[in-house]
Amino acid sequence: MSKKYCLITYGCQMNKSDSERIATVLEDTGYKKASEVKEADLLVINMCSVRQSAVDRVYGKILKAKNKKTKILLTGCILKSDFKKFKENADYILPIKTLPYWKEVLKKEKYIYYPNQRNEKFNKRFDVKYFHIPPKIENKFSVFVPISTGCNNFCSYCVVPFTRGPLICRRAKDILREVGLAVKNGAKEVWLLGQNVNDYQNKIKNQNAKCKITNQNAKIITFPKLLRMINEIPGKFWVRFTSPHPKNFSDELIDVMATCEKITPYLNLPVQSGDDEILKRMNRNYTVLEYKNLVKKIRDKIPKVCLSTDVIVGFPGERKKHFENTVKLFKEIKYDMAYIAKYSPRPQTTAFKLKDDVSQKEKEKRYKILSKILKEMTLEKNKKYLRKAVEVLVQEKKNSFYLGKTKTYKSVKFKVPLKKSNLVGQFVKVKIIDVDSFGLKGVLV
Ligand code: SF4
Repeated sequence: MSKKYCLITYGCQMNKSDSERIATVLEDTGYKKASEVKEADLLVINMCSVRQSAVDRVYGKILKAKNKKTKILLTGCILKSDFKKFKENADYILPIKTLPYWKEVLKKEKYIYYPNQRNEKFNKRFDVKYFHIPPKIENKFSVFVPISTGCNNFCSYCVVPFTRGPLICRRAKDILREVGLAVKNGAKEVWLLGQNVNDYQNKIKNQNAKCKITNQNAKIITFPKLLRMINEIPGKFWVRFTSPHPKNFSDELIDVMATCEKITPYLNLPVQSGDDEILKRMNRNYTVLEYKNLVKKIRDKIPKVCLSTDVIVGFPGERKKHFENTVKLFKEIKYDMAYIAKYSPRPQTTAFKLKDDVSQKEKEKRYKILSKILKEMTLEKNKKYLRKAVEVLVQEKKNSFYLGKTKTYKSVKFKVPLKKSNLVGQFVKVKIIDVDSFGLKGVLV
């Protein structure tokens, strides 16, 4: 009888995308998917270390599964400081970059991949080889395509440069092949993923050049160029990307978004704070004025754009006057959505050395203030859609309703019409008849 695996994924879309490749390897190794943890011979946890709460949840899962003689494999974003505790309880700890070798490694009873100097070299040697593994795509109409992994920015609160390492970009031709294949197989929405997507670069050697390769005779494919190439792929589909860094947002990228019809007018542009002093301490490398100028340029060129952001409240040293600047920026920019996080100190980061001096109560208060402003802003923004017909990509059916997204990434809910075949994964037109802060409601046109 074949062995069974259960795969639990925490964290961002990049982890979800990696899990699709993990599933391919496990099934090639002979494992079948278990319907629940207690059935599994192998429990794979693809971890996230961005918040301590996610790490704590993994401890809980391990302790529960341990009694059931299930082998435990940990991968994903694991900090060195957690490694010691995990290695006592896990059977395998394997960085995602070792995925091409899991088939071999899983023949062993136990394998802990130590994050030491020797292994770091080993990691570099294998860089993005694991991207060559085809993903086992669950949702065929909305697919994730990673274009890079890692990050060189070292924002002072962020663990990514430590858990995923430096930025490594995939070859453009591999990305184009993967997008093309997904579209052929029915993808209607393609998410390009990277920790800092607009830092993407792929250097192509000029085959005809006789002399030694130099920067002059190598062609560089930047992120805007990659988007243009993806836009040329035949078929009707939408392209989204996450996450760009404001400091790398070029005029060329704005032009591409304004002129390529498949690139959606939705942008998550993380601001993190509305105060220059805090931004400096976060090592974000832009000022509030530069951010505001960028937003203006984007809105001038792409009037329909919907803008979301990420913001952290309660960063070390964030006094009331700093927070008030974030409130001011929020009111000025009027976002369509914001992902608000309460600062959580993470080991290894620069900010970890700073005193976490904003109380939990104050963080909670600041979170609530921004959430309230956001709710009012989004209601106003959503009202603009009233009585308009919008194109929607239907994503799921829930009881008697369909849920989907507009090209601008607004959530839309509409009633399941009688005598209609399943609309999930299709583009439809919906007339908006009602809105609230969270989305739009309508009827099928
Ligand atoms: S840009 Fe900053 S926040 Fe984003 S992954 Fe890199 S270090 Fe982390």
